[in-house]
Amino acid sequence: MDITDKIVKLTDSISYLPATEEPFSCDIGFVKTDDCTWIFDVGVGEAAAQAINAVEGKKKIVISHFHPDHITNLPLVSYDELYVSKHTQKYTHCGTVLETATDFGGVRVLPIPSCHAKGCLVLLAGDYAFLGDGAFCQRKNGDFIYNVQVLAEMIRFLESLDCKYFCLSHEQLFVQHKPAVLSVYYDIYERRHKLEKGNQFINVNDLI
Ligand SMILES: [Zn+2]
Repeated sequence: MDITDKIVKLTDSISYLPATEEPFSCDIGFVKTDDCTWIFDVGVGEAAAQAINAVEGKKKIVISHFHPDHITNLPLVSYDELYVSKHTQKYTHCGTVLETATDFGGVRVLPIPSCHAKGCLVLLAGDYAFLGDGAFCQRKNGDFIYNVQVLAEMIRFLESLDCKYFCLSHEQLFVQHKPAVLSVYYDIYERRHKLEKGNQFINVNDLI
């Protein structure tokens, strides 16, 4: 089977290659604009690399964050431009660093306040915001947790995004309505009232 057959079309210009468990690889977003195709994350393994290399024309890659399931294919794919956060660049050793929200023709790349990892970026294209793992929790000592303050900032950031859908990497349902995703985070944020004094971390082990 041709790997490009696995690409799921969302609109005429926006599509994605679904994440896989084996190898453990993230979803990869494709956004075609007038002058190039934007690619969000590069994943792991031959199949994902092939899907990226099969894209014709100019390619601009944005890496969501530094975790291996999002960056491993970088040396295996061809591209014209690469955008990363400052923290991600410590792992990729290449790419243009973006530190603030930046408009490119047809897409916008923004840093998201994230509990999951340092230096997460999101890609906004039309009705869709590719969030990578940016909205996910942090794993610490076997627990899944959100820092209350960062979670509050993340919620404000997500609310501010002008889009209809959030694309959440690795989720069974990759594309979800913005209000549905936000309601999950509102519920998690409500848990702060039950924290013992001095505890800044909301535990979400029961939701994973
Ligand atoms: Zn991650």
